[in-house]
Amino acid sequence: MKRGIWVRLFDLHCDTLGCLADGRKSAVDMRRGGCYDLWTQVFAAWLADGETPEQARGHCEMLLDSAWQLGRQAMRVEDRDSLCDTTHICRALLAVENGGATAADFPYLAYLYRRGVRLITLTWNGDGPWGSGCFGGTDGLTAYGKQAVRDMESLGITVDVSHLNAAGFRDVAAMATRPFIASHSNSYAVHPHPRNLTDAQFCAVRDSGGVVGLNLYGDHLGGWDFSAFQRHLEHFLALNGERTVCIGSDLDGMEIPDVWEGICVFDKLWQHLKGEGYPEPLLDAVFYSNAFAFFSKTLAAKT
Ligand SMILES: [Zn+2]
Repeated sequence: MKRGIWVRLFDLHCDTLGCLADGRKSAVDMRRGGCYDLWTQVFAAWLADGETPEQARGHCEMLLDSAWQLGRQAMRVEDRDSLCDTTHICRALLAVENGGATAADFPYLAYLYRRGVRLITLTWNGDGPWGSGCFGGTDGLTAYGKQAVRDMESLGITVDVSHLNAAGFRDVAAMATRPFIASHSNSYAVHPHPRNLTDAQFCAVRDSGGVVGLNLYGDHLGGWDFSAFQRHLEHFLALNGERTVCIGSDLDGMEIPDVWEGICVFDKLWQHLKGEGYPEPLLDAVFYSNAFAFFSKTLAAKT
């Protein structure tokens, strides 16, 4: 144990696979992730809007392939047992962001599951085959999108509503038979940005048994500082969110201040919040154990 306290991180979203694929500098790496006593990371393959399904599938393949570059210090998590591995610096889960871009049907979703994908964000910001993001049209999920939600549930892939528009969110909430999540979304009541969740949306995710990851994007927080983050955290906690709020950094999806030192930012954020009087068990729930509990109940036993 370092520094006399135990800091564990379970981050529900980063865009690091794109950096690995392009050879770009990344905010998330094994050296810096080693600052945590335990670190589990969801690595998302981000697909742009506007590509053909064939192009999107090609990009998806390339991004998922790039996960091998994480190296031997990262252990791939595909089931409940591997979630509990403590012999590697990083437990890595794979996700696809904007899964709708691939126009996936059941066979392709089953293929993604076999590739290790356990979480799919339905849309990005614009319009796609499954539905529309928060900057796209106002219609709900397409018939295709609704079928994809059913298929994901039957395969054991978690549905992620971050980026989705209001009508699409309502459709997911109405039809979901399993918990769904918002992997990287903040509070609209605190800062009215279209990417943020209203209180009713937060409560719908909470009541499904899902989790919500707070991201560090200053445009969504309403400032690039820890006190902005704290306002969103405080608001969601006040909505009976003690077992719902998590971290979903969105690192490598944006530029962050150098002083945050990439993924080590959550160590600093923990110290800040502890200084503000948050008890360690609550911080551990937000930074780690809420997300761990979610995947413990949704991942299959050893495959
Ligand atoms: Zn995103």
